Amino acid sequence: MLEVHVLASGSDGNCTVIQHDDSAIMIDAGLSYAKIHKLMEVEGIDESCIDALLITHEHGDHVAGAGPVARKLHIPIYSNPATFGSFNHGKVEFEFIQTLQRFNIGDFSVLPLPTVHDAADPCAYNVTVGGKNILVATDTGKFTFPLQKALEEADFAIVEANYDNRMLHEGPYPESLKRRIASDHGHMCNADSALEIKNTFSNPNRQIFLGHLSKHNNTPDIARETVADLTGIKRYKLDCLEFLGDTRTLTVSR
Ligand SMILES: [Zn+2]
Ligand SMILES: [Zn+2]
Repeated sequence: MLEVHVLASGSDGNCTVIQHDDSAIMIDAGLSYAKIHKLMEVEGIDESCIDALLITHEHGDHVAGAGPVARKLHIPIYSNPATFGSFNHGKVEFEFIQTLQRFNIGDFSVLPLPTVHDAADPCAYNVTVGGKNILVATDTGKFTFPLQKALEEADFAIVEANYDNRMLHEGPYPESLKRRIASDHGHMCNADSALEIKNTFSNPNRQIFLGHLSKHNNTPDIARETVADLTGIKRYKLDCLEFLGDTRTLTVSR
């Protein structure tokens, strides 16, 4: 059994658990331990399954609960040194990793891939387990070549669809923040994500989950509609979290 549990995705916090039978890894812990604990209960995840916490980058919405989660679950944090040195985690067990250098955690073979984002050394994760390929790629201003290749080979991919272009430009954010979000070091808009998804289409069974939707500059409906229109993927096949506190468990293989 291989499942991806999306416990939170967006600027209020990010946390994903990839579970293969009785072992699991967590990617990012951007909410308090108490909230993550509750969300894991909602999704029926046994905390003792989790073997490691992998960090993508040091922004608060990805690391706010990292230290407490690592200590409560007695698991090491996996992070590259620049990221590890850029946030407050307190005393934790840790393993240093390097972008584009594969490492293993039990059955999980993990390749960190470079993203382009305004952080110390941000990355996405490509996880191979149970014969399947899973990509978690958010917080990137554009898709790097290794990300495109991983998206093409993925059986399941969380792809960032952060904002709708029109909503961002007509919305309430100050101009400087709008420029930062839309820059190559910010986030992916719905249309750009759609193009990456379309350009890497080769596996008709690939599952796409839209992640890190902005609550000010996007809506689940607009994200799904834009990506469906531009890729030809049926709307109902594109999933995302619908509201704050929403969670999802996606089955990759039984
Ligand atoms: Zn983020
Ligand atoms: Zn970020």
